[in-house]
Amino acid sequence: MANLKPLVIGNWKMNLDFVEAVHLGQQIGVLLKNRPSEHTEIVVAPPFVDLRSVASIVDSERIPIAVAAQHVNAHENGAHTGEVSTSMLKRLGVTWVLVGHSERRALYAMDDAVVALTLRAAVRSGLKAVLCVGEALEVREDGDQDEWVRHQLRSALDGLDERFTEQITVAYEPIWAIGTGLTADAEQVRAMMTHVRTVLATVKLPDARVLYGGSVNADNAASLVAEGRADGFLVGGASLKAESFLAIIQACDDCYDLKR
Ligand code: PEP
Repeated sequence: MANLKPLVIGNWKMNLDFVEAVHLGQQIGVLLKNRPSEHTEIVVAPPFVDLRSVASIVDSERIPIAVAAQHVNAHENGAHTGEVSTSMLKRLGVTWVLVGHSERRALYAMDDAVVALTLRAAVRSGLKAVLCVGEALEVREDGDQDEWVRHQLRSALDGLDERFTEQITVAYEPIWAIGTGLTADAEQVRAMMTHVRTVLATVKLPDARVLYGGSVNADNAASLVAEGRADGFLVGGASLKAESFLAIIQACDDCYDLKR
């Protein structure tokens, strides 16, 4: 069954120590108490070392958000210095994980094969996974973005056991729009949302939510969700301030009645 609830995920990247992370989590909690999100599902992805503290505060203060890791290793355990496994995350109260963020792909050599393995490890463990895809500027300039994204989706999702399809969300994040202040316009987003959904139907995931990510902020969120037809957002910079994060959530809430 299609989950049409909007989804907003804050990717805190390598920002905020555990004290700052708890503070931001609490600020989000206070704002949500004053103005609850009626429809939008909310997830935050703090750095590994903050996960336990943020999960605890979310639990003890009953803040209606879930906690994601930004990455996970596909192996169960063993000689993987610096890495963490799905079971370690789950023990901390983490329920979501980002897989194949463009920064992992570009800076830490995460290729399509590793993305596919990681995605499988995540969903087999019971975590919900956000598969991140998106093209670089050169690819878009050559007009090859559809083929690029199709390849990324198919290489990660082809052959995935149907038992796990409900655990998958896709985030389309054009690399040229991440952290640059450049945003894909609503028309570009809409075209890519349609393309991604078409490809997802070919791998038996017609109902997966498709998020947009790339310099989303309080000012552009409403048009990207209403005209761009995104099912929500993966947000970097603007998720580091409770007010701007909540404004994005509010924009999704307000657009809930628009069906794709
Ligand atoms: C991201 O890191 O996934 C992202 C979209 O970042 P920003 O919102 O800062 O562009």
